[in-house]
Amino acid sequence: MARKSVASAVDVIPFSRPYRSSAELTNLETVLGSGHVHGDGDFTRSATARLSRLTGSENVLLTTSATHALEMASSLLDIGPGDEVVMPSFTFPSAADAVARTGATCVFVDIDPATGNIDPADVAEAVGPLTAAISIMHYGGVPVDVASIQSIAVEHGLPIIEDNAHGLGVQGLGTAGVLAAQSFHDTKNVHCGEGGALLINDPSMVARAEIMREKGTNRSQFLRGQVDKYSWMDWGSSYLPSELNAAVLDSQLADFGEIQLLRTAVWNRYSTELAEWAAESGVQLMDPPGGIHASHLFFVIMPTWGDQTAFIAHLRSQGVQAAFHYVPLDTSPAGQRYGRTLRELERSADFSRRLVRLPLWAGMGDDEVGRVIAAVLDYRVGL
Ligand SMILES: *Cc1c(COP(=O)(O)O)cnc(C)c1O
Repeated sequence: MARKSVASAVDVIPFSRPYRSSAELTNLETVLGSGHVHGDGDFTRSATARLSRLTGSENVLLTTSATHALEMASSLLDIGPGDEVVMPSFTFPSAADAVARTGATCVFVDIDPATGNIDPADVAEAVGPLTAAISIMHYGGVPVDVASIQSIAVEHGLPIIEDNAHGLGVQGLGTAGVLAAQSFHDTKNVHCGEGGALLINDPSMVARAEIMREKGTNRSQFLRGQVDKYSWMDWGSSYLPSELNAAVLDSQLADFGEIQLLRTAVWNRYSTELAEWAAESGVQLMDPPGGIHASHLFFVIMPTWGDQTAFIAHLRSQGVQAAFHYVPLDTSPAGQRYGRTLRELERSADFSRRLVRLPLWAGMGDDEVGRVIAAVLDYRVGL
């Protein structure tokens, strides 16, 4: 963050930059001086309470990553060989990893091309006798059509797993399903390097989740004085982060309001200042229904596949790092091994090959946002 304020022409604007929060160094000193550096100390308790308030989920467990939280979700739902989990093809591999490792099959379905989110009509069609769960992801923190997914889930008695890595702080996200995952990887709005959380919205799963997270032991109950010895109770792993991670996370969560203001200011400038260019160029700007999103990312959908590559190259030549996003899982090598589809997922393939994300982070300077906008406006579609 100690960059000179006068940007020279060669300064590259990165796609993302991890946020520096106000109390993180003091918090780290506190942990290192306290003699309690392993997990589940005061900062874990504080960060957990903040997450509970932010999401409305009453049972939150910090984890080492969102991927691990999703693994825990599969295990808590006893998903295994012969089961199928319906999920979007256009998502990060973690949701599929969590299913594939249990021996179950991923059933990939298509998206709504307006948002990139899973299409409920495709979910309804894909649900069958082997379906064990529906897994959803709110792309960019734009809510999935949760009401429609919930009605399918209720009709078939299925649990919903939510990958909410993008949607922290958006009303209703994290509590739409029985289990939800948050990510605190350093590319996310709030981070601790690597980290995550599992939100448990069914209280009957809390005790088993605590045991699973503590190597299969009831050590959490022991530390609360609820049992006088702890032992091996169930299958588990080491899913809890150290207090060092929790100390940084707690500080970042304390700054959440400020982070979101800063990110939203950048998002709003892109949305406003690129509107005319987009309309003239046949480009679709990210346009969330009801204006609801988490300011996690800003995407544009180029008119053709060729324009995706050419636009990213053009921006790079202007010192701006832009990025495409997910390669649809159904077409990936592991997706072909561990998943199936009902048909070719044309909307996911097309979305993936036309989408470009612009740089967005908390603390991006006005001049930097201005340089990105100028570079975008300088691009002529189809040339
Ligand atoms: C970042 C991300 C993940 C993985 O998070 P980790 O904490 O790195 O495991 C999973 N899903 C989505 C949608 C993500 O953006």
